[in-house]
Formats: sequence, structure tokens, C-alpha cells
Amino acid sequence: MLYQASGRRLSSRTYLTVSLISLSLRWVAPGVSPTPRESATRNRRGARDRGVLCLKARLGWHDNRREEGPPLYPARFAYTAPTTLEEALATLVEHGDEAKVLSGGQSLLPLLKLRLASVSHLVDIGRIPGLEYIREEDGFLRIGGRTRESALERSDLVASRYPILLDTARVIADPLVRNRATVGGNLCQRPRCWYFRNAEFNCLKKGGSMCFAIEGENQYHAIFGGGPCHIVHPSNLAPALVALDASVELKSWHATRQMKLADFLLGSYQTALEPGELTGGA
Ligand SMILES: Cc1cc2nc3c(=O)[nH]c(=O)nc-3n(C[C@H](O)[C@H](O)[C@H](O)COP(=O)(O)OP(=O)(O)OC[C@H]3O[C@@H](n4cnc5c(N)ncnc54)[C@H](O)[C@@H]3O)c2cc1C
Ligand code: SF4
Repeated sequence: MLYQASGRRLSSRTYLTVSLISLSLRWVAPGVSPTPRESATRNRRGARDRGVLCLKARLGWHDNRREEGPPLYPARFAYTAPTTLEEALATLVEHGDEAKVLSGGQSLLPLLKLRLASVSHLVDIGRIPGLEYIREEDGFLRIGGRTRESALERSDLVASRYPILLDTARVIADPLVRNRATVGGNLCQRPRCWYFRNAEFNCLKKGGSMCFAIEGENQYHAIFGGGPCHIVHPSNLAPALVALDASVELKSWHATRQMKLADFLLGSYQTALEPGELTGGA
């Protein structure tokens, strides 16, 4: 990538370590599709019900069977927290698309709790040393896949030579999210919209036959491109890194490959991450 900093033209790339895993999505049969207003009312009711159930859970009542509304707890899964990259890659290749990388958990855990994603094996990469870094090597900026979004805000290197990343990191979510969420997770999070998050809408992305945003509430959706999913990617970092012509490094048990981030992001539907693969850096 070509990047202008301090009057000097730099070549900078980003090598991220990310492991891309496709989500297995579960949905609830929608019946008659409610209007968005009806949907909002049901959401509010669902939120109220969830609050009641949270209280019950705190009191020790862990029965989360419900007549309506999304479940509160994820389905059962195995959890591994490897301490080496090799161990993580071995687990990922062993379980294939049944496994998923857990990084900051800011997107994945809510999806699992709402049963909008399911996984049989979570591979927590948080205990693997050496995946969090921001440094320059041979004129390239390198960012580890486990690097927290807040680290971009605090980095003198980023502030002085790559201010677009500082400006971008500052506007992501809020400080609490940025302290846990990671650069790799930011690029690998699945684009989805309010119809996706609502269990009553079995949209294309959940295996259904239509995109509700085409005729529905679509003020935050894509105006370019023809779908089939019309949501824009939620990542603020992605456009900034694509503008910097960043590349991502994808590691699997068998090989390491590198590709332009622009090629990694396959529209709004998915990324080029293969099962068993993990992103190492950008
Ligand atoms: C309330 C809220 C508001 C937000 N607002 C914004 C915003 O304004 N702008 C923005 O850009 N983002 C926003 N986000 C997204 C957030 O910044 C995180 O980037 C995102 O939640 C995922 O990061 P994570 O590290 O928590 O990943 P996780 O939740 O752990 O994982 C997300 C996905 O990426 C995969 N993954 C994670 N790391 C890797 C890896 N190294 N290799 C391969 N796959 C990997 C996981 O398997 C999972 O599928 C928001 C999130 C929340 C909860
Ligand atoms: S844009 Fe359409 S297909 Fe994509 S998540 Fe929303 S409703 Fe589903």
C-alpha cells in the first residue's frame, strides 16, 4: 500500500493473524413477517423478558426454557485456550468448520447467546503470546491479529505515522468495547443487520430465501452492489486498511498465505477465511 506520512511516502502493509470460521446459523421459523414497528414492539417485550430471566438466573434459577423470545444462553460447546499458535491451529484443523476462534468475544459471544450462531468448539486465542503487536518492519506496519482496538489509540507509532488508523480506532464503538475487541476480530466479524439479529426474520444470511432489507428498513444498508445480502460491513477499520492497501496473513496447520485485505473481504456476505484457518497479522 502507499501511504503518505510526515511528507514521506511509505509502503505499509498490515499482517494480521485471524482465523476465519464460518458461522453455523440457527433460526426460528418466522411465520407471518411482522412489520418493523411490530418487530420493535416484540424486541422491547423480548428485552423485558430477558431482564426477568436474568434476575431469575441471578437468583439461581437456571432453567432458560421459554415459550417465546430468543434463548439467553449459548448451546453447549467445548472450550480450549491453547498457549501456543501451533496448538490453536491443530485444534482448528481437527474440528474444521465446527470450530471457531474466540478473540475479544465482543461479537461472537452475543451471537452465540442469542443462538444466531452455533459452534461445537471455541478456540480462545487470548493466551497465546506474541499475537499482540504494532511495529514497523522493513518499511511496513505490522499489526498482530490479537491487538486490541484500544492499542491503536495508544500507539505513538500509529499516531505519528498512520494517523488514519488513530482517527478510525477512536470512533469504534466505545472504550469498553475497544479495550476487549481486537483487530483480527474486527475484520472477521460477520456483517449482519437488525433483521439478522431478530429471530423472527429468517433472512438470506440465516439460510432463508430473501433479504428483508430490500423492501424493509434499509436506511443503513448498502446502496452500491446487488446483494444478495445488502448490509455494509460493520468494521470501521476495514475501509481505512483497504485505503492503505493492507494485506492479511492467514495461517492454517498446513500453510500460511497472504492476500490483500480488499480480496479477503468478499462483499457483505463473507470473507475468504477457510475453515481451520487463522489470521496472524496485517
Ligand atoms: C456494542 C458494539 C458496538 C460496536 N461498534 C463498532 C463500530 O462502531 N465500528 C467497528 O468497526 N466495530 C464495532 N464493533 C465491533 C467491535 O469493534 C469488534 O471488532 C467486534 O465485536 C469483534 O472483535 P472481537 O475481537 O471481539 O472478535 P470476536 O467477537 O472474538 O470474534 C468475531 C469473529 O471473528 C472471528 N475471529 C476473531 N479473531 C480472529 C482471528 N484472529 N482469526 C480468525 N478469525 C477471528 C471469530 O471467530 C468470530 O467469528 C462493535 C461491537 C459492539 C459489541
Ligand atoms: S441485509 Fe438482508 S440478508 Fe443481510 S443480514 Fe440484513 S436482512 Fe439478512
